[in-house]
Amino acid sequence: MIEEKVRKRRKARVAQSDCVACGSCVKVCPKSAIKVYKGLYAQVDEALCIGCGRCAAECPAAIIEIGEVD
Ligand code: SF4
Ligand code: SF4
Repeated sequence: MIEEKVRKRRKARVAQSDCVACGSCVKVCPKSAIKVYKGLYAQVDEALCIGCGRCAAECPAAIIEIGEVD
């Protein structure tokens, strides 16, 4: 019998329109998964993000959420 594994993955999401591009999230990410794009707003590389939540805890604007993706 084949066991089907359906596992949700947790990833960071940034409300980019409210990002002040401070870079605090970038400094604490253990996977280098979040970058400030052209000095404008933070962007998450979902392939690298492990959903640890460090960036969300550090963001002074509280605009990062950790959500589940399929
Ligand atoms: S949730 Fe963790 S791995 Fe993902 S971007 Fe934030 S700090 Fe990096
Ligand atoms: S810590 Fe928050 S406000 Fe600062 S760059 Fe990251 S997402 Fe933007």
